[in-house]
Amino acid sequence: MAQRVRAVIEPAVLTTFQQELLAWYAAEGRDLPWRRTSDPYAILVSEIMLQQTQVRTVVPYYERFLARFPTLAALAAAPLAEVKAITDPLGYKARGERLKRIAETAMERYGGTLPRSEEELLALPGIGRYTAGAIRSFAFREDAPILDTNVLRLLVRVFAPPRAGGGAALLRRLWALAEAVIPPGQGHVFNQALMDFGAQVCTARKPICLFCPLRPICARWSSTGPTVRYAPVPPA
Ligand code: SF4
Repeated sequence: MAQRVRAVIEPAVLTTFQQELLAWYAAEGRDLPWRRTSDPYAILVSEIMLQQTQVRTVVPYYERFLARFPTLAALAAAPLAEVKAITDPLGYKARGERLKRIAETAMERYGGTLPRSEEELLALPGIGRYTAGAIRSFAFREDAPILDTNVLRLLVRVFAPPRAGGGAALLRRLWALAEAVIPPGQGHVFNQALMDFGAQVCTARKPICLFCPLRPICARWSSTGPTVRYAPVPPA
């Protein structure tokens, strides 16, 4: 695994970022079915379905899937054709196979549960750092970072991490930022706030900068220079 870095954000900037996002989320956050559960399996299903697919499109498929396959054991035992009959119409047809493979492996290794540690989650087939972070954060309530496209765009705009060293180095800084912005003990809510803010305010094409509560600290608008230091994390 490539060496990770730690991001140290100027305290006043960090506090404003956290408080403004949490206040915005309390008023504007989306009510989604997978946010009403802490079942790791249901979170897994939602995250795999949300890849490359709009939230609105996923909701009925998610509900149908869990009604038909309510547990990892039910999914592992089901014929692949039945799984794909629900997931294929969503597009990106590898989804059904992927979910079934994860379920079968989780049955073999963990008796039908999902593990909690990042290391064990990453060792399951088809689970990357983002999905592992989502399961740890939304199901197990750990302060694990997540970095989907909405979060990534928001962090790039607000903190303007340096691009020196190429794409891999930038990605490491972004993961470090995603970790550093989480208020201790509030990762599951804060990560949802990051995702929703990126999807609804700091959007790809038309960010609503004029009314954005983060504008006073956003690097897009500020001339005060970098507010973050990056330091290598020594190997464990
Ligand atoms: S000011 Fe604009 S670019 Fe900065 S976080 Fe807000 S919406 Fe995004």
